[in-house]
Amino acid sequence: MVCGRSGNGWKIARARVAWAIAVVLLAWFTGEARAAGYRTVNFIVEAPTETLARKIGDAAEQYRQTLAIEWTGRPLPRWSRPCPITAQVSPNLGAGGATSFVFDRGEVFNWTMTIQGSEERILDSVLPHEITHTIFASHFRRPLPRWADEGACTTVEHPVERARQHRLLIEFLTTGRGIAFPEMFAMKEYPADVLPLYSQGYSLARYLIERGGRHKYIAFVADGLDTENWSAALGKHYGVTNVAQMQHVWLAWVKQGCPAPPSSLAAAVPPPASAWSATSRGQSPDPRPAGTVPAATAPVATSAARTSIYSQARRSAEGTTNPR
Ligand SMILES: [Zn+2]
Repeated sequence: MVCGRSGNGWKIARARVAWAIAVVLLAWFTGEARAAGYRTVNFIVEAPTETLARKIGDAAEQYRQTLAIEWTGRPLPRWSRPCPITAQVSPNLGAGGATSFVFDRGEVFNWTMTIQGSEERILDSVLPHEITHTIFASHFRRPLPRWADEGACTTVEHPVERARQHRLLIEFLTTGRGIAFPEMFAMKEYPADVLPLYSQGYSLARYLIERGGRHKYIAFVADGLDTENWSAALGKHYGVTNVAQMQHVWLAWVKQGCPAPPSSLAAAVPPPASAWSATSRGQSPDPRPAGTVPAATAPVATSAARTSIYSQARRSAEGTTNPR
C-alpha cells in the first residue's frame, strides 16, 4: 500500500515535474522568440536575441552621434525619452523600416522605430537610414519635403542599396514614371507611385551633396523650409536658376552617367567621419547607367502621417508583401 501510494505519488510527482519542465521550456522558447531587450541612453531595443539587441542599440547610438555631426556639424542632445526600436532579424527577411514621430509646437517626440532584415543589412543600411530621419526631425522640428528626406537618408545606406536605387531610377525614367521636379519639390507626403520618389530623391540628394557637402544640403533645406521658395534656395546654395532648371541640369547629369563633380567642387566636400567609414559606409559611386534618359513626367499623390517608411518601397520593389 505504502508502495502503491508511493508509486502513485511518484507518477504524480514525475508528471508534475515533466509539466513544470515543459512550462519552463515553453516560457524560455517563447521568451527567446518574442524578444530580448537592451537599453541605451537614447534607445530601447527589442530584438530576437540579447546579442542582436545590444548590437543594434550600440550601432544606433553610434550612428546618432556620427551622422548628426556629418549632417549638422554637432551631436544631437539627449532625447527626453528614448526611442523604442523593434527589430525583426532574419537572414531571408527583406530589408525595411519605418520611423514615426510627432511634431508639436516646435518639438518632436513619440519616437517609434521598427526595422527588419538580415543582421548585416539592418546594421549597414536600415539603421543609418532610419536614424538619419530622427536626426532631421530633431534638427528641423518640422516635416521635410519627402524627396529631400528620403533622398538624403538613402545616401547613408550601403553602396549596394544605393546602386539598386540608381538602377531603379533608370528604369523609372525610361518607363514614364519619373516625377517632374516642380511636383516633386511640392510633395510633402508620399505619392501613390512611391518608388520613383525614393530613387529620384536619392539621385538629386547625391548630386547636391557631391557638389556642396552635407552641411550645405542642410542649409539649403532649411532655407527652402523657411521661405517655401525652393527656386531661391537652389539659386542661393547651388547657383541654379530655379526648380525647372535644376531638373534640366540633373537630368543631363544622369544622361551622362552621373559623372563625379569637377575636382574643385569635390575637394570642397569633406570626407565622411572616421566612425562612419569604420562601419564600411561611404560615398562610393553608383554604377553608371546605360542608354539614354527621356524627360521626366509626373504622377501625383498623397498619403498621411509623419511616418518615414522604408519597407514599403523596398518590398514592393521586390514584389513581396508589405506588412505595414
Ligand atoms: Zn526613409
